[in-house]
Amino acid sequence: MTKWVYVFGEGRTEGAADMRNLLGGKGANLAEMARMGLPVPPGFTVTTEVCTHYYKNEHSYPEALKAQVEDALKAVGALTGRTFGDTSDPLLLSVRSGARVSMPGMMDTVLNLGLNDVTVKALAEQSGDERFAYDSYRRFIQMYSDVVLGVDNDYFEEIIEDIKDDKDYRLDTDLTADDWKGCVEAFKEKVKEELGRSFPEDPHEQLWGAIGAVFSSWMIPRAQTYRKIHGIPEEWGTAVNVQAMVYGNMGEGSATGVAFTRNPATGENALYGEFLVNAQGEDVVAGIRTPQDITEAARIASGSEKPSLEALMPEVFGQFRETCCKLETHYREMQDLEFTVERGKLWMLQTRTGKRTLKAALKIAVEMAEEGLITKEEAVNRIDPGSLDQLLHPTIDPNAERDELTTGLPASPGAASGAIVFNPDDAEAEKAEGNAVILVRTETSPEDIHGMHAAEGILTSRGGMTSHAAVVARGMGKPCVSGAGAIRVDMQRQVMLVDGRTFKKGDIITIDGSSGQVLAGRAEMLEPELSGDFQKLMDWADAMRRMKVRANAETPADVKTALAFGAEGIGLCRTEHMFFDGDRILAVREMILSDTEEERREALAKLLPMQRDDFSQIFELMEDRPVTIRLLDPPLHEFLPKTDEEIGEVARQMNVDPEDLKERALELEEFNPMLGNRGCRLLISYPEIAEMQARAIFEAAAEVSRRRGVTVKPEVMVPLVGLRSELDFVRGRIEAIAKEIDAEQSVSLEYSIGTMIELPRAALRAAEIAESAEFFSFGTNDLTQTTFGISRDDAASFLGTYQERKILEKDPFVSLDTNGVGELIEIAAQRGRESRSDIKLGICGEHGGDAASIYFCEKTGLDYVSCSPFRVPVARLAAAQAVLKKVDRDV
Ligand code: PEP
Ligand code: MG
Repeated sequence: MTKWVYVFGEGRTEGAADMRNLLGGKGANLAEMARMGLPVPPGFTVTTEVCTHYYKNEHSYPEALKAQVEDALKAVGALTGRTFGDTSDPLLLSVRSGARVSMPGMMDTVLNLGLNDVTVKALAEQSGDERFAYDSYRRFIQMYSDVVLGVDNDYFEEIIEDIKDDKDYRLDTDLTADDWKGCVEAFKEKVKEELGRSFPEDPHEQLWGAIGAVFSSWMIPRAQTYRKIHGIPEEWGTAVNVQAMVYGNMGEGSATGVAFTRNPATGENALYGEFLVNAQGEDVVAGIRTPQDITEAARIASGSEKPSLEALMPEVFGQFRETCCKLETHYREMQDLEFTVERGKLWMLQTRTGKRTLKAALKIAVEMAEEGLITKEEAVNRIDPGSLDQLLHPTIDPNAERDELTTGLPASPGAASGAIVFNPDDAEAEKAEGNAVILVRTETSPEDIHGMHAAEGILTSRGGMTSHAAVVARGMGKPCVSGAGAIRVDMQRQVMLVDGRTFKKGDIITIDGSSGQVLAGRAEMLEPELSGDFQKLMDWADAMRRMKVRANAETPADVKTALAFGAEGIGLCRTEHMFFDGDRILAVREMILSDTEEERREALAKLLPMQRDDFSQIFELMEDRPVTIRLLDPPLHEFLPKTDEEIGEVARQMNVDPEDLKERALELEEFNPMLGNRGCRLLISYPEIAEMQARAIFEAAAEVSRRRGVTVKPEVMVPLVGLRSELDFVRGRIEAIAKEIDAEQSVSLEYSIGTMIELPRAALRAAEIAESAEFFSFGTNDLTQTTFGISRDDAASFLGTYQERKILEKDPFVSLDTNGVGELIEIAAQRGRESRSDIKLGICGEHGGDAASIYFCEKTGLDYVSCSPFRVPVARLAAAQAVLKKVDRDV
């Protein structure tokens, strides 16, 4: 016969901590505490399976349930020495919900169940406190009517207020036993008036009403919403915990409180908590009275004059402290506890894993591992890699006031305040004056790079998580909110309109790139803090991971950041970003506007020394670590001016006719530039570009190798290959240049040539492409774009709706679509390895910094992941966790 009910209490406990799915978190932990011999008020748990049955069978219970509950009531009666429904020594109960994971506030608790006109007298007699008994009784009627019978609580509060007015009382505590007696009568009359029937006096009827209410509460809208937000499946159901009442409000020798076994804010290994004398649990949470500190140390630290539990009830405190230690050691995790003291006797009401800040999480994990309580692997597994962002960037003080304007996409983490500027030149000018600015654009383009550099943060009204603004900002480690659709940027008037408000240049705003929030004005910030605990945990993680972690970086500043965060190489150096700096853009434009190959080569010759210098600096910093340099990728028109004004300005600088410039720009314009003449296609159209870049790379490698006495072995990467013949063509040019340099400089260059896998065709034809490529780097931004056929720059306008309507669960530009895009990666990896067994495989799309995607990369056996510098620690930790998770699965 199915067991639907599990009893817990000293000497007879049927559940345990590992039965969380069946008993819910609260029920499983109550059983575990009872099993450990801790003082838990006896009770029983009605399983989550009853909830499932209830919903599958038109709100009815399994047949055997009634008898099992009756038996459990008897068992609890035996453990407490009381009888449920007895008139002289009644067992009173609390009834609480308890799902597998905590869902705070989902359902109200019913306390004091079993009270009626007769049992209340027994309670008065036993407690020797009539006022307490009738106060408990009216609380019960109030809670039960609200939660179970659906009578609005406001009615009851009104009745209390009327009594207070009548008697000229100020506080609830002014009401006497007789007042509460009168109140009880009024409450019952109100219930009758509202429902047309009397308040149930029969304790059994009360109990079944409460159990039914808990199960019904599983489907109320706020519980459904909570589950949706937290991804809790509906099928899990809730359990019901029925427990003997204990009272923290039986006079000055009674108390109730909550505590953490370690400080949840700092992680300090010190008991931390609050309590109230002569109060029930709700009073602590409700914040009506100011709670007192549990330990003397905390009281002294907070400067409170109210005595601590340690001073007030030293014996109970000693026992409580010992219990906390026992629980933490037993669960091997920081615990969050609820307790009650009834006339000097300690009762434990709940234990669960305590929530904590990231700083505390790091400290607790490291210290527990050092104490030998957990293993280093467990410590590494206990930190959410994504949360490390909090540690590496400034964040808005959680206590700061927020004048929120709108929320866009959290494109690049960290928060920043500054004066609005609408164009990159203004950003640069303001920065030169020492002013902090936020660059606000509809969307950014490579031309805005200098302004993005100068700004503290970037805000765009369009563009998704892999839009230009997002990718570049992440690379720079600058906060960015992209795709904030509610904002209209009026470039003509130089204003930003949002939420019915107008902001002009110079107005201060704050952006939070971790949440996507945009705020008016300046907000208080917390500066990042890299503690010793962080370093220790990262060292442990490094020792556990298999995959290497590289960074996507192209400027010396980014490379330095990447190295400081522990990057082991550069997985993607996007050379186009180097084309926008200073005077280079002029030479780049000359190159683009050239009519003949000869003219083009002349312009490229001007770029050569600059590119060589770029690469020298990178090789110098990276020493013998691997560096993958990608040849030019974006369509050429991205380098040309757009508006008439810009065209005029550029034509003047270049000493050409603005009309000619305009014409050439028009010629280069494409309907669909992402699918146009870019990547290797560009290098095939203009092979001299590849040649110049190859020369710059190799000359720099030769020079740094000579100077530093190391062997720099650059990895030259060809983007957007779909055909082996494309790669072969570009490869031929690169090799020819290498040969020339070998001869010119009497060196023997060491290098490799590989390709990005960004097109489904490339993934499918990986076997033949691998014959020509020594490495593959999965460009999952483009591969996602081309697999889905969704433009990465326009996705923001509908992907939100897709997620809301559950058409897509996650944004595939943020977290890899492991089924579709992932299958192409698996195919490419497998076919690539078949034709070249030692082919090096990596990922350099934005997914290289996303924990779930990194797990996929580990499973697929990639050699490295590459991500923006600020995500390197995230990737290091996620790569270690991926190994641990894989081992777990394999066992
Ligand atoms: C990619 O497509 O994933 C990639 C890394 O290249 P980019 O983002 O520069 O197109
Ligand atoms: Mg790409």
